[in-house]
Amino acid sequence: MTERATLLAEKLTAVLGDSGRVLTSPATVARLSRDFYWYSPVLKRELETKVGDVVVQPVSVEEVRATLQLCYQLQVPVTVRGAGTGNYGQAIPLAGGVVLDLALMDRIEAITPEGVAVCQPGVRLGALENEARTQGWELRCYPSTVAKASVGGFLGGGSGGIGSVAHGGLRDFNTVRALEVVTMEPEPRVVRHEGEAVHEILHAWGSNGIITRIWLALVPAVEWAQCVVAFPSFAAAFDFSESIATDEHWQKRLVTTFEAPIASYFQPIRTYVAANESNIFFLIAHAQLDALRSAAEAVGGHVVYGAAYAGLRATPLLSDYTWNHTTLWAIKHDASWTYLQCGFDPATVREQFARLKARYGEDFLLHIEFMKSGSGVVIPGAIPLVRFTTEERLNEMIDFCRSIGVSVANPHVNNVEGGGRYRQDHVQFLAKRRYDPRNLLNPGKMISYQPEEGSVA
Ligand SMILES: Cc1cc2nc3c(=O)[nH]c(=O)nc-3n(C[C@H](O)[C@H](O)[C@H](O)COP(=O)(O)OP(=O)(O)OC[C@H]3O[C@@H](n4cnc5c(N)ncnc54)[C@H](O)[C@@H]3O)c2cc1C
Repeated sequence: MTERATLLAEKLTAVLGDSGRVLTSPATVARLSRDFYWYSPVLKRELETKVGDVVVQPVSVEEVRATLQLCYQLQVPVTVRGAGTGNYGQAIPLAGGVVLDLALMDRIEAITPEGVAVCQPGVRLGALENEARTQGWELRCYPSTVAKASVGGFLGGGSGGIGSVAHGGLRDFNTVRALEVVTMEPEPRVVRHEGEAVHEILHAWGSNGIITRIWLALVPAVEWAQCVVAFPSFAAAFDFSESIATDEHWQKRLVTTFEAPIASYFQPIRTYVAANESNIFFLIAHAQLDALRSAAEAVGGHVVYGAAYAGLRATPLLSDYTWNHTTLWAIKHDASWTYLQCGFDPATVREQFARLKARYGEDFLLHIEFMKSGSGVVIPGAIPLVRFTTEERLNEMIDFCRSIGVSVANPHVNNVEGGGRYRQDHVQFLAKRRYDPRNLLNPGKMISYQPEEGSVA
């Protein structure tokens, strides 16, 4: 243990009491300083040696405040962590200090009659989805890491996922109704943000406040079915998936289209996919399953699997292979795969596909996730698999995408601004100036912020 770790542990224990919630074992601290940054070969190289000094596991907002107050006095950085499933090294402390692990703040306080969940940040999204469904509600959108990921981590670092085809991303349609944050000041305050003001905190990677309470809007629960439809060509699969995704008549929660041979990488569900074809994974209203089957067959597709959805414990659980889980299965198959996060133009998407395939061929495999934008238009988002050779080539691919009008949220950078969700009206930056003037919260992640003199760089 380093000298700083010993000193910090002593002082934090004085604040939290001898509760066993100040963790100092180097192996534990190293484990809780990690996320899934290693999906990016670039971030793997940059971040693998970064580690905190100690981990603190508060159980209440008072303990969060006390921890921040002490760390402010000592000028020690604090990096907040939910479940550590983020992809961009978001929760990796760059300057050591305290890892604030909120996993024990996991209480669902209420699900209101209007369908708003009120909860602490450490609640797992899967637990919230299960509880909501027992009361006739469900999450509007969730990441494919739903079983493990926390609500606070989703707000701090996530963007959308299953459900986004109907309800947009986390930031759209007033899904996050309100939140409370604890500030990093001599006397930390609890500040409530509601309505538009939630955007000051969302996707700021815990760099401008610690979210301690959340009001999340739900939607009425639906009886879903899971379905896999395969087509001999990607063009036919894309046309069909687009027709379902963009037509309001179809009630859906997931429309994911995989160019061949991506589905062949999904080892545990090989019998549920057509390994040599382009596959589409759907979560569709159970009442529409037969109609979907007929519609697919009418345009040359065939249903490989279709059955009622039994919730997050379903086997198979198709969502476990969508969104960024697709990348995980690809990396398991062949470690040279990595990924990009793209947005295509609905008007020219086929031409954009053609140009990418002409240039990169089998080194760029299309994985499409349809998503409703804030303006209500369903757009073909994508998490394509890209073959990694060098960082230069990866950057060239990003540049080429942008040159043909394909937007890229770069998952190979470790800062809020570079990742594609930074607000151009700088509201996250302005909140940092108010709530963390000394740049002690996850320092190094909001790179445009110039800390006050004497602060952590
Ligand atoms: C296989 C795989 C698939 C994924 N699929 C998706 C997907 O479909 N959609 C998607 O959006 N993401 C996806 N992700 C990324 C990630 O799983 C989600 O964003 C998830 O919601 C993060 O939750 P977490 O609890 O693990 O957060 P963490 O990784 O612990 O934290 C994420 C960020 O939020 C900050 N943070 C955590 N808690 C708080 C808090 N209380 N207050 C302020 N800031 C906080 C952290 O400091 C960090 O910067 C995927 C990742 C993997 C590995």
